[in-house]
Amino acid sequence: MMNFDQAPFLVIWEVTQACDLACAHCRASAAPARDPRELSTEEGYRLLETVKTFGDPLMVFTGGDPLKRPDLFSLVEKSTSLDLRTTVTPSATPLLTAEAIARFQKLGVARMAVSLDGPDPQSHDGFRRVAGSFDRTLFALEEAKRIGLDTQVNTTVTRHNRRRLDEIAAIVERVGAKLWSVFFLVTTGRALVSDDLTPEDYEQVFAYLYELSKHSSFDIKTTEAQHYRRFVAQRRKAEGGAVRGPAPNPIARQAGINDGKGFVFISHRGEIFPSGFLPISAGNVRHDSLVDIYRHSPLFLELRNSGKLGGKCGVCEYRNLCGGSRSRAFALTGDYMAEELRCVYQPAEAKVALHG
Ligand code: SF4
Repeated sequence: MMNFDQAPFLVIWEVTQACDLACAHCRASAAPARDPRELSTEEGYRLLETVKTFGDPLMVFTGGDPLKRPDLFSLVEKSTSLDLRTTVTPSATPLLTAEAIARFQKLGVARMAVSLDGPDPQSHDGFRRVAGSFDRTLFALEEAKRIGLDTQVNTTVTRHNRRRLDEIAAIVERVGAKLWSVFFLVTTGRALVSDDLTPEDYEQVFAYLYELSKHSSFDIKTTEAQHYRRFVAQRRKAEGGAVRGPAPNPIARQAGINDGKGFVFISHRGEIFPSGFLPISAGNVRHDSLVDIYRHSPLFLELRNSGKLGGKCGVCEYRNLCGGSRSRAFALTGDYMAEELRCVYQPAEAKVALHG
């Protein structure tokens, strides 16, 4: 188990916010034009060298659409030449060509991640708000499979697609993706509270994912649903610990990871955030040390201190394994240490306090 007080497991760099899609739930509220304040190529190289000083974190290039940066391939090459395990998450637009996918592979990208939010063009393109996105996504996944580049499918669960997850999973299986990364909504950017699931819906989706994980050909991980770990722990206990749960995988998240805890996000302008969904800046790589900020900034220290969690999360026996989504707590209450409002679990101590 890594020491998340010293180094993140995942470093996400939003290389640009520019994107030709206009997704309904976009965290970055992305727009087609690039921001002139983006980190330059040289600043990007320095950032990657700094990331390497953490050891061996997983380096993720995200956006916006990373392919909107003409220097993307140089940055990726720098990352892989530093021996950083590197993942790229391009948007499914005409920029995502067979040539671009082949270049990712040639440069040593470990995995390409693309988003799939519906099982057919109508549902997916409706979400992404650009016709042809579904077909481009499928093309990219099949092309990567053809040339032997590992892939990951990212799906954001909302009330619009939650009943179609099995159809999406069938596609994940068919294209041979290694990982299905299931995102749960945090209402920042363009995402709406009315699109989110109820706490009971979360449990139902967790049950579906857990059962699927027992026999799927791909690994499953959740993003911004830390309480899935509590669900899995409860199920495994109930099942006597003998049944295979979500398979361990070096690229999958490790237990206990949370916003600012094993995780750091660098914005296109160099701001250092605990997560892309928790837009509180602890500094900027242009004038602060990323390593110092991650290890010592009051914001990151507080986020890693489960003793400071509020409400039922603060007394929950799963708080070190789970801790609830700090991003969602902030989005829904304005307090990033508040309890997770989408968790049905009532910790034993909270029950005692409630019922006297
Ligand atoms: S109460 Fe909080 S810490 Fe406990 S399982 Fe739910 S979200 Fe996690």
